[in-house]
Amino acid sequence: MSHKSEPLATPVQAGTSDLAARFTREFGGRPDGIWQAPGRVNLIGEHTDYNEGYVLPFAIDRTARVAVAVRPDATVRLLSTYGGQGTVSASLDGLQPRSAKGWTKYPLGAMWALRERGIDVPGIDLLLDSNVPLGAGLSSSHAIECAVITALNELTGAGLQAQEMVLATQQAENDFVGAPTGIMDQSASLRGARGHAVFLDCRDQNASLVPFETEPAGLVLLVIDTKVSHSHADGGYASRRASCELGAEVLGVKALRDVQVGGLEEASGLLDEVTFRRVRHVVTENDRVLQTVELLADRGPSAIGHLLDASHASMRDDFEISCPELDLAVETSRAAGAIGARMTGGGFGGAAIALTPAGEEQKVRNAVAKAFAKAGFAAPDIFTVSPADGAMRIA
Ligand code: ADP
Ligand code: MG
Repeated sequence: MSHKSEPLATPVQAGTSDLAARFTREFGGRPDGIWQAPGRVNLIGEHTDYNEGYVLPFAIDRTARVAVAVRPDATVRLLSTYGGQGTVSASLDGLQPRSAKGWTKYPLGAMWALRERGIDVPGIDLLLDSNVPLGAGLSSSHAIECAVITALNELTGAGLQAQEMVLATQQAENDFVGAPTGIMDQSASLRGARGHAVFLDCRDQNASLVPFETEPAGLVLLVIDTKVSHSHADGGYASRRASCELGAEVLGVKALRDVQVGGLEEASGLLDEVTFRRVRHVVTENDRVLQTVELLADRGPSAIGHLLDASHASMRDDFEISCPELDLAVETSRAAGAIGARMTGGGFGGAAIALTPAGEEQKVRNAVAKAFAKAGFAAPDIFTVSPADGAMRIA
């Protein structure tokens, strides 16, 4: 186990006028505008994306904001209020995949991907101010990319639709940053809407909004960031993907998305024991996403607790991507009053979510903090998120 090297305290975000004033102090001149894009939480549907299945993330009320001014030349100047590198200058003409270091690879990647689409991207000054916690599995990196792409889409008059921006962001991540990510994070950040989750079909990339409002149901959604990342995360991810590919091949389907729950019994006779359990996770998880979508529409969030629980059990026992910290967060919050809880994200560390009656929130927080201390784990970061709007201009 290792603790992440970057500081994890949640950054505090400035108001728009303070951000504009800071921009002027740093760069001179006023920003042309301020745009924001949120981080995301995946409500349910884990490791289903690369099996061409379903996911159900939502945009959260934590955003990356960018104040941007177009420059007359091809220079890009980038600064984050989070500190670290200070102002970084780059030339638009020198942008090469994998050439950028540190956080600037995200805004530069977004700019590069737009240029790859033939869009005439100008030099800019950009001040980033984000309150999406870094590296907590809430996709602080996509929040940056989506804020930048939304700003440039408007400033260049490119007029890209959300889906084109989703694909441009994926290209930025895959080719420029060098991270093999799919479309979930940016779909939530770009297409999310207050009081809704984004139901995404990773096969045809169709997205639709599903009502998901916690407050009227008397619920809060707690994120419990365990602040650990286990060193086998990368290898674990690659081996899970390989098992899924093997399973699909043996079962003669294009992707595990094509296997139904009713087909599992037959599959068990064809697959080795471990591959079968990996397959069973993906197949049942896809089914849980569909059930969640239906229940949210028919009965609201109070009805989905058992599906969150079943998702966690499946990741713990069948897909084996949980860890003691995540299991403890889930078990403790359930015992203290949460109506459903699961790890969220790729696994081997990161965060859990706990859907909790508002009246039990403090009890759950206390119980989890106490259980972590007793187990000798580092204190987790616990906070609430609510389903919020996707990327937009705010000033
Ligand atoms: P996640 O996207 O799950 O938060 P990543 O490792 O993909 O985790 O992205 C985190 C990275 O994003 C950080 O290491 C940093 O480079 C960048 N980042 C996120 N927020 C900020 C910020 N406010 N200022 C500077 N860099 C940031
Ligand atoms: Mg990321």
